[in-house]
Amino acid sequence: MTLQIQSDVSLKPFNSFGVDVKAQWFAQAHSDEDVREALAYCAQRQLPLLVIGGGSNLLLTADVRALVLRMATCGIRVLSDDGQRVVVEAEAGETWHPFVQWTLEQGLSGLENLSLIPGTVGAAPMQNIGAYGVEVKDVFVGLSALDRQTGELRDFDLAQCQFAYRDSLFKHEAGRWLILRVRFALNRADHLHLEYGPVRQRLSEQGIERPTASDVSRAICSIRSEKLPDPAVLGNAGSFFKNPVVPAELAAQIRQSHPGLVGYPQADGQVKLAAGWLIEQAGWKGFRDADAGVHRLQSLVLVNYGAATGLQLLALARRIQRDIAERFNVELEMEPNLY
Ligand SMILES: Cc1cc2nc3c(=O)[nH]c(=O)nc-3n(C[C@H](O)[C@H](O)[C@H](O)COP(=O)(O)OP(=O)(O)OC[C@H]3O[C@@H](n4cnc5c(N)ncnc54)[C@H](O)[C@@H]3O)c2cc1C
Repeated sequence: MTLQIQSDVSLKPFNSFGVDVKAQWFAQAHSDEDVREALAYCAQRQLPLLVIGGGSNLLLTADVRALVLRMATCGIRVLSDDGQRVVVEAEAGETWHPFVQWTLEQGLSGLENLSLIPGTVGAAPMQNIGAYGVEVKDVFVGLSALDRQTGELRDFDLAQCQFAYRDSLFKHEAGRWLILRVRFALNRADHLHLEYGPVRQRLSEQGIERPTASDVSRAICSIRSEKLPDPAVLGNAGSFFKNPVVPAELAAQIRQSHPGLVGYPQADGQVKLAAGWLIEQAGWKGFRDADAGVHRLQSLVLVNYGAATGLQLLALARRIQRDIAERFNVELEMEPNLY
């Protein structure tokens, strides 16, 4: 038995909101064997299991009466390299940003736009993380996951993961699959995605006309550091709401009363609205109720000024959802996973 299981552990250091709730049981998995031990421990005691990575996409609203298993498995390996396309596999517990940096140091491009996203490799497919015009699905080739019900190890390819905007099969079948390792297809040549204006602008401010993948990563890190609060300083989970996708008629209707509406037409004819813009228009930017608030610069980011509980943050989120529904007839969906 290598798994160290502790009782009554504060999860404050293990969630980026810094919410202070306790795990009835807590352990860190450093190997597949640890993961299997945790599954057996829970099965024997009929105990629920909550798997976490970096805790940067969680809203914990009460003490967790379960075994909380933090994935801390390490390892990155090259599976194939044809001189151009390189398939890299990383263990679920690898921290995302250092992994991205490792790929760049190897001269591989593909993940640069996803620089500085908090969390772990194993959680990245959960909501198909995305930023600056790239999503994990764009470089994903496969993953290996354990079926928590049967203990069967299964490989998933791109199509089987059903990736969509901040969505995947693993979100739909929450609690079933435990992701052990993920595979990415990267490139020795730079295929850069510079569609996002601020990235181009930052590069040109730096006098960089022909950027490399590492230049793009650095530019994105500098933009993100200015834009988003650092969870180590101010508790948050990044964007709290997904950008809602609405019928074109509804977008046109909102635009009549709000000509500045920010919306992006989608391939299926619908329009993706900027949730942050809606929240800002409704006057929530900088709002604070006790220690739960809306960031003063980023309306999409809910923050914990120190002692907010998960329930207080949830209550604020629900107030914003109700207000946006009443004002714009738009339903906002929460991005973090609620426990
Ligand atoms: C400041 C900030 C900025 C952010 N920016 C972005 C962004 O630009 N784009 C974006 O997409 N997201 C962003 N996020 C959200 C977050 O970083 C990502 O969702 C990240 O992938 C979460 O990883 P994690 O390891 O912290 O997951 P956790 O929060 O620990 O877990 C998230 C969910 O995944 C499950 N899970 C975790 N690991 C596993 C596993 N190995 N197997 C099965 N299930 C698992 C958990 O049970 C939970 O349901 C941001 C968050 C913060 C705090």
